[in-house]
Amino acid sequence: MSNCHLCIHGHFYQPPRGDPFANHVHREPAASPYTNWNERITAECYAPNAQAGHFGRISFNLGGTLARWLEEHAPATYHRIVADERTYWQTHSVGNGLAQTVHHTILPLARRRDKICQIRWGVASFQHRFGHEPLGMWLPEMAVDYETLDILVTEGIRFVILSDEQVSGELQDGAGPYRVPLPDGGEIAVFVRDRHLSNAISFGMPDSAYVDEWLEDELTWRCHQDKLALIATDGETFGHHHRQGVMVLNHILTTQTRHGYALTTLGRHMRHHPPQAELEVIENTAWSCSHGLERWALGCGCTPGDSRWKGALRRALDNLASDLDQVYLAALERVGVEPWGLRDDYIAVVLGQVDGAEFLSAHGLAHLADEESRRLLTLLEAQFYRQRMYASCTFFFEDLDRHEPHYAIANAVRALALTRYATGDDLSHGFRRDLTIAVSGTTDRTGADVLDTILVEAEL
Ligand SMILES: [Zn+2]
Repeated sequence: MSNCHLCIHGHFYQPPRGDPFANHVHREPAASPYTNWNERITAECYAPNAQAGHFGRISFNLGGTLARWLEEHAPATYHRIVADERTYWQTHSVGNGLAQTVHHTILPLARRRDKICQIRWGVASFQHRFGHEPLGMWLPEMAVDYETLDILVTEGIRFVILSDEQVSGELQDGAGPYRVPLPDGGEIAVFVRDRHLSNAISFGMPDSAYVDEWLEDELTWRCHQDKLALIATDGETFGHHHRQGVMVLNHILTTQTRHGYALTTLGRHMRHHPPQAELEVIENTAWSCSHGLERWALGCGCTPGDSRWKGALRRALDNLASDLDQVYLAALERVGVEPWGLRDDYIAVVLGQVDGAEFLSAHGLAHLADEESRRLLTLLEAQFYRQRMYASCTFFFEDLDRHEPHYAIANAVRALALTRYATGDDLSHGFRRDLTIAVSGTTDRTGADVLDTILVEAEL
């Protein structure tokens, strides 16, 4: 095997399992003997990988919902992950963690101002956890368009990861990084994951006794002199999807000398190998749907059965988001503050860095009467739940009548309730009407039926 560089990137993420009203995770019998999937996957994957020190050797991103859950329920694992990333950053002057947009929204399907919000909230969350600026950002489902890349550059992000089917051009430098010029000027660096190699470990992981042979078979011919080979896959591959995954990963991370590759991470590699060759990005593509972005917009063959509910639910959420924004904008116009910048900064309150009064004071709003302050902070909180409606998992699976779409509608209910509390505006009628068009292909329940169940459960 030639002297190549190898990076393993793990995308560590769990869909939100919590109840947006009661902030706890429901019992999930399928996760037996554990109470829920988060606990089970922690035991199988996050904890043993953290204990083995793997978060100080791989490149990774840690999703917001998962990070919050780990911090509360598996603090030793959470603190080890954070500590190992910080140590890496202190040792190499560049981190091995990537930021992630905060609610795992499919960015190309979002409005520009919502892309900015998701990216800024993701960067702020990363800084809050890891104590330094992120160089790279993980795009949810690797969904990409040029507007997203343009905003990332403006926000200080230097690189993203895409899959080889999402770019056009010659991959002469292996995984890169490559220069991707942006239509409005500027450029961003893109690392290109090796789909074959990534799938080989994700779907054909060897037994832990045969990793040497696997490396010889799979890596030798894909790893070239002084080039980077990039395996990027779900982090849960290592221990949860494959029980032997922690041992296999450990073997790959500790036998580099024997096999002639040098382990690296993305930021570190980019510092020594700045991007030179150019690539173009194929817009509106993702790593987990071969039909553009249809999986999250209209429905496609990636999920079985009738998936027309996806388009109907998206329309309902979009119409509601538009109504919520109108109420928010009217309130902000009264106090004379730029609305979207204020919303972007609101993440400081969500992260607990400042309280509401301090936040308003820092934005020149200390003079507001109590009633007006309360209204404004409540509408900002509604904007938080309005953002959270769009987690990609809502549309990822086959059916409307399962937890992820319920969760989206529950977040919408939360945004509706807060808005009504703040201003008296009841926006629920249009939302309910739109939801009647979204129908489950398995239970025949509509989104409006789901809404009613949530309202009863929440006793609103
Ligand atoms: Zn698809």
